[in-house]
Amino acid sequence: MNRNIAIDGPAGAGKSTIAKAVAKEKELIYVDTGAMYRALGICFHRQGIDPEDESRIVEALPTADVSIDYINGEQQVILNGENVTGILRTEEAGRMASAISKYAPVREKMVELQQKLGREKAVVMDGRDIGTVVLPDACLKIYLTASVRVRALRRYNELTAKGEVCELAVIERDIEERDYQDMHREVSPLRQADDAILVDTSDMSIEEVVGAIVKLYEEALAK
Ligand code: C5P
Repeated sequence: MNRNIAIDGPAGAGKSTIAKAVAKEKELIYVDTGAMYRALGICFHRQGIDPEDESRIVEALPTADVSIDYINGEQQVILNGENVTGILRTEEAGRMASAISKYAPVREKMVELQQKLGREKAVVMDGRDIGTVVLPDACLKIYLTASVRVRALRRYNELTAKGEVCELAVIERDIEERDYQDMHREVSPLRQADDAILVDTSDMSIEEVVGAIVKLYEEALAK
């Protein structure tokens, strides 16, 4: 049996914070798949390609080399030799990622890379299609969610803490749009895998969520 954990859920549910903490506690490698789509989005944006222009995106796909590295246990995303990790977490990169991730060839390329990582190491991988497509045999699958209001507030606090100027109402609308786009695309829409466990974090602290997932993981390993 593999020791992988799949965590899926909508934007701002706390996937990366939780996945990182679980990885640390259980000595697993954390893989943030959203960061890979964000890097691709940045790559196409830099070339001035309209994210709605599917044929140009597919044409440009071979020019985008995305790979993953680790520095002191922290995931780094390398785009055509450049470490772009520091510029991935903006709202714009998130929107670009969401727009281009609906195309099948884009997903195929990223899924291949993610599955390779899952075969080589024991991982906690977070994203939108990890339990359904990327790691269907994961020994634990979690669907992590929270209300739109709570998710928007978390993102707002994260951005303002970094000194970025933003508006809560705009973030809330962005999250709603991104949820809609991610849940209604034709290819690998965001949905809870049949065998995933739903965890609603709206009224839970980070420690509570991490504790609950670690417990579920230990139970899954003992089976
Ligand atoms: O999780 P994050 O906000 O970084 O993801 C950015 C976007 O990338 C998501 O809104 C989604 O459209 C896309 N994504 C995806 N599949 C994944 C991870 C992210 O489609 N496994």
